[in-house]
Amino acid sequence: MGRRLIGAFPAQYPKEILWAMNAIPAEIWDPPVDTSEANAHLQPYICSVVRAGLALILEGKCDMLDGFLFPHTCDSIQNLASIVNDYLGIRKPCYFFYPPKAPYRHSSRRYFVEQLRALVTALEKTMGPLDPSSFKQSVQQGFALGALLGEIYEQRRAGTLNAPNADFYGVLRQGEYLHPEDFIPRLEAFRRTAEREDTSGPGVILSGVLPNPPEILKLLDASGVRIVDDDFMNCSRRFLIHGEPAQDPFEALADAYFSLPPCTTKNSSIQERINGLLEKIEKSGARGVIFYLVKFCEPELFDVPLVSEAVKDRGIPTLVLDVEINQGLTGQLTTRVEAFVEMIS
Ligand code: SF4
Repeated sequence: MGRRLIGAFPAQYPKEILWAMNAIPAEIWDPPVDTSEANAHLQPYICSVVRAGLALILEGKCDMLDGFLFPHTCDSIQNLASIVNDYLGIRKPCYFFYPPKAPYRHSSRRYFVEQLRALVTALEKTMGPLDPSSFKQSVQQGFALGALLGEIYEQRRAGTLNAPNADFYGVLRQGEYLHPEDFIPRLEAFRRTAEREDTSGPGVILSGVLPNPPEILKLLDASGVRIVDDDFMNCSRRFLIHGEPAQDPFEALADAYFSLPPCTTKNSSIQERINGLLEKIEKSGARGVIFYLVKFCEPELFDVPLVSEAVKDRGIPTLVLDVEINQGLTGQLTTRVEAFVEMIS
């Protein structure tokens, strides 16, 4: 369809601007690659998300891309941006996006809009001018997608969406590379086939970066556990948008950004994160929380001890798993998950 393909690194960036410029962001979170070549460029304590993303580039599997987008998510992504842009000599345009960090002030909104405009200016140099009506239309698509995802999450919480955990995230994660014109019908079809009561098994909430290794989802399915909600950086923390978009698409994106749930990468306060998680537990009736962490993810690791403690203080059991992406299931991991399931059942 003549669309450009942009490799987008985690986590938060304005997809709508890329869609409006006839480009598709293909997000690079957890490609299943051998990371040994990347090890030469990175310290051993860098997370496997960055390691796998860099390995993908070094293996030449990003050669078909028209550029990369690096949001300022954490120090590791920031440094990856520097390695790719300044040292690898890959000769592809690299774009950067610097969203504001909390605590938000009046000036944060103005700053955010300025960053959106700066990204548009950078993209226009290679992709041509942004068409205002296409931009408006893609913002409307973004809001429609957010509303649909919000409804699907609500059904999951209420026990009216009957689908295995692995299938649920399998469909949801297609949004990491599909255009909304393809993704919205796919989500609607999934909802139609899964719309029936399911209140079986104990409900849990997963918190962390992303649902990988996916084998844990299958293990929870096999143990009869329903994931009733999540607090994942690449899922609910970034796409549950409500309401109607403002007339000005830049302002609409600012409304959406500042209404998103708290996230470690936005420097949200511990209290906001605790309140957000407790609210999810209350609404969904979850019997436990699994912190499904990527090893060496600094932003998450700073928060987890305090958030987990606060959840336990409310009588809700928690399990903290520290995993590498694509590592599969080890015997020890399986035993810990099974013991946790037995406790909450
Ligand atoms: S897993 Fe954590 S440290 Fe790694 S890129 Fe994501 S936010 Fe950054």
